[in-house]
Amino acid sequence: MIRSITRPKSEEEIDRLLDGSGRIFIIGCGTCVTLTHTGGEPEVAAMKERLSAKGKVITGTTVVPVACDNLTGEILKEFKAPLNQAEALLIMTCAYGVQTIARQLKKFVVPALDTLFVGKETGFGEFNEICRQCGTCIIGETGGICPVTTCHKGLVNGPCGGTNNGKCEIDPNKDCAWTLIYNRLKELGRLDLMRQYQKPRNHLGEPSPGKFYIKSN
Ligand code: SF4
Ligand code: SF4
Repeated sequence: MIRSITRPKSEEEIDRLLDGSGRIFIIGCGTCVTLTHTGGEPEVAAMKERLSAKGKVITGTTVVPVACDNLTGEILKEFKAPLNQAEALLIMTCAYGVQTIARQLKKFVVPALDTLFVGKETGFGEFNEICRQCGTCIIGETGGICPVTTCHKGLVNGPCGGTNNGKCEIDPNKDCAWTLIYNRLKELGRLDLMRQYQKPRNHLGEPSPGKFYIKSN
């Protein structure tokens, strides 16, 4: 399972972003942020209570099924009046949801969460970033281990000088990515790949923001 991993912004930051907006409509999402307890029904209810206590008028709340999909006609119809009354939308979803809603509604949007990464569930309730969609995938030469996400510095040509007894200098509780890669390649009898040089990335050849069009037949 792949999920957007988020954490709540501080109350101070949310209050600053909402400064000047007295009437607020709050939107949560029933998918990733419900799972991570950052923007589901209980968190939306708690946010409503907190902002109401601060004197904000909450014109309405909803938790949409999937915030990174466009809001459906039914939702827009059901919440037409409270959405119109709101001066700002406080969106308790990942940034994909915030941007989807911002493109659809002509309203000032405030994200309530910080989006950290797209994570794969690697254990019960545990999510890890395993790909940063870097556009130059080299895991065919690293035994299927991604150095961009596994190494704290994203090094792609072997370890830094701080690697220590197989552990990372930045987090000694973590295995050094390049020890993992070395061990994997050794196990596979492909240590020759450790000598493979990864050229510096050509950012001109990888325009950002990324775009992709499905070709029609
Ligand atoms: S090298 Fe890592 S970050 Fe880049 S595409 Fe491959 S898995 Fe993703
Ligand atoms: S010790 Fe290893 S994982 Fe940590 S930053 Fe250096 S190369 Fe990367």
